[in-house]
Amino acid sequence: GEMTLFDLTDTARIAVNWVERGTKSKVDIHWQGEAKCMAMGRPGHIQQVLMNLVQNAVDAMEGVETPKIAITLAYDGPWSVLTIRDSGPGVPPDVAQHIFDPFFTTKPAGRGTGLGLSISHKIMEEHGGQLELVQGREGACFRLTLGRGGAQK
Ligand code: ADP
Ligand code: MG
Repeated sequence: GEMTLFDLTDTARIAVNWVERGTKSKVDIHWQGEAKCMAMGRPGHIQQVLMNLVQNAVDAMEGVETPKIAITLAYDGPWSVLTIRDSGPGVPPDVAQHIFDPFFTTKPAGRGTGLGLSISHKIMEEHGGQLELVQGREGACFRLTLGRGGAQK
């Protein structure tokens, strides 16, 4: 796909719907920020990144009584920024250290390849953007940064 100006909010919505169709757990999704956050990139690749982040969040919340995901979309100068936070157990420091390494997984054999985050990180770098783990008080939080592109408001 070509780099194009696309709706990141809509792409995130598609990713969430895709994961929801494949899971039995009822996850409460909370949307905040820009209803139509535009970004520059390859929407198909970004959708793949987002599907992985949402799937990881759902996996991490298995057994959690009220699974929640908060997705925030905002402009920050020349950047479009999406954050996704879940109400799972979060990422312990020893896992955080290796989280973007290829084949690193804490999931049982056959459940995870450990490739999702390493490929996602690479995709974001290829876009001149970023994928970062943000350590906070509760759950896991990932921040995805992409060029805002085009003429700015
Ligand atoms: P996989 O999903 O196949 O395990 P990933 O690269 O997508 O591979 O993720 C690597 C590891 O990072 C996971 O196995 C898990 O330990 C950790 N991880 C990823 N997302 C989360 C999350 N939202 N909460 C807690 N741990 C996470
Ligand atoms: Mg994964």
